[in-house]
Amino acid sequence: MTNVVIAGAGPNGLMLACELALAGITPVVLDALPGPSAEPKANGLVGQVIRMLDMRGLYQAFTGDENPPQPSPAWMFSGMQLDFEDPSQRPVYAMLMPQPRLVRLLEKRARDLGVDLRWGHELAGLRPEADGVTVDVRTADGHYTLKPAYLVGADGGKSLVRKSIGIEFPGTTSATVARLAQVHVPDELRTPDGGLDIPGVGRIPFGHNWFEKGMVLVGALQPDVLLVGTKEDGRADEQGPMSIAELRASLQRIVGVDVPLEEPRGPGPHALRRIDGQNTRQATCYRAGRVLLLGDAAHVHSAMGGPGLNLGLQDAVNLGWKLGAQINGWAPHGLLDSYQTERHPVGQRVMMHSMAQSALMGSGPEVAALRTLFGELIAMPEVSVHLGRLLAGSDVRYDVGDDHRLSGYLVPDLTLDDGRRVAALLHDGRPVLLDLTGAAANTARHWADRITIVAGTLAGGPAAVLIRPDGYVAWAADEFDSADERRLQASLTRWFGPPH
Ligand SMILES: Cc1cc2nc3c(=O)[nH]c(=O)nc-3n(C[C@H](O)[C@H](O)[C@H](O)COP(=O)(O)OP(=O)(O)OC[C@H]3O[C@@H](n4cnc5c(N)ncnc54)[C@H](O)[C@@H]3O)c2cc1C
Repeated sequence: MTNVVIAGAGPNGLMLACELALAGITPVVLDALPGPSAEPKANGLVGQVIRMLDMRGLYQAFTGDENPPQPSPAWMFSGMQLDFEDPSQRPVYAMLMPQPRLVRLLEKRARDLGVDLRWGHELAGLRPEADGVTVDVRTADGHYTLKPAYLVGADGGKSLVRKSIGIEFPGTTSATVARLAQVHVPDELRTPDGGLDIPGVGRIPFGHNWFEKGMVLVGALQPDVLLVGTKEDGRADEQGPMSIAELRASLQRIVGVDVPLEEPRGPGPHALRRIDGQNTRQATCYRAGRVLLLGDAAHVHSAMGGPGLNLGLQDAVNLGWKLGAQINGWAPHGLLDSYQTERHPVGQRVMMHSMAQSALMGSGPEVAALRTLFGELIAMPEVSVHLGRLLAGSDVRYDVGDDHRLSGYLVPDLTLDDGRRVAALLHDGRPVLLDLTGAAANTARHWADRITIVAGTLAGGPAAVLIRPDGYVAWAADEFDSADERRLQASLTRWFGPPH
């Protein structure tokens, strides 16, 4: 029997499929495309998602780097540099990763974990029922029907799932036009740090650059291929597919000189995109009975600063263990609904900072003044760190019903005294009780079928930490007295059901 159908084998649908497989569920994943999408979209991942990949062993698998991920000494907010001078206060992790590669890697992991992945199978319609969802699937050979207990719409911003069940998608469409392409530019105009040096204009460094008439994005992410983007106020006069000539004209309007942008060299597909009106929208709810929304199906916003996959992949990991628990029969009341209560506000904050960054990239002298003021503010270390935490999502604190300083946050990158990294203890997606004084294991033994109890020591650390499968701390204690024992029992019951 099929317990879960996931519509959409983009990064978020595939990540959810992998998480469900870790929980012992074999989902069916449908995608209308004939194979993994080669569409150039994301160029990298930014924020806590990198720590989360580390917690599944995927950071190492994807990068080939055996070391733990390291936070960046600086990052950008609307093209303005945030410097994190104090090495202990560096919130932003970043990793270059073209989206087609990420999709292929996740597809392989899903297949290795036994996921039933069906390319060329399009979700054509659905009918929610009391005990499941009837799903109509269209293939080149005709139609067939599935009836899973749950359907997850990971089918992108235009989600048929979201529309079919009538979930609203309120928000705004900005009066701006963004253009983006991979291009070839003569070597003499390129700088070693990945930017441009244009006679009559000067240096346009790597990243987002503000000009009074619009924004220019420059990024050398592959040898020989430069990513160039522009953003202007108004709406596009052009119809039909974008062209390099259109981007070149837009760049000339902004910087005042003609920059010889040419067709990119080397094998494609290459990015070539016009976004005529930036949507910033969020589904009013992420769950309607047995239908759930995930990733771009639940929220869309500007790609500035690359927040999309930080949000979507963490949605997937938040939902995976909860839906797995629901199907495996041990989910406590309300666990599945906590997907919405935890992740919807996180999506709202991403929309807030992505719109704030877009506003700071607007044109005109008022925005110039605002950027001057912002420049003064971000020179203050605490402001820089605050914005870095916002962009990374490391300020996300769920209400887990426990007020220890660690509770509700993603567990820090701890290494036990014997050298074991806590991130590695989470590879199999099971909850972990870290018993660091030998006192907590006895209390937790009645949940041992659902959680992994790890004994160890951590000099200067807490006495015990309960970590959910998504890496968030459910409960922690510095001592372990009888009150802590009661609190641990309450937390175990809240997240993992009654004792057995
Ligand atoms: C130009 C651009 C640059 C970006 N840069 C970044 C970046 O640097 N970093 C970052 O984190 N994010 C970035 N993003 C955002 C990121 O690409 C998205 O957030 C991400 O693609 C969302 O993944 P998803 O799996 O939710 O949806 P999608 O990637 O849209 O995947 C949806 C899948 O569903 C399938 N599908 C749709 N309808 C059906 C159906 N009816 N039946 C079956 N299958 C269906 C589609 O074929 C597709 O494979 C960028 C986006 C754009 C457009």
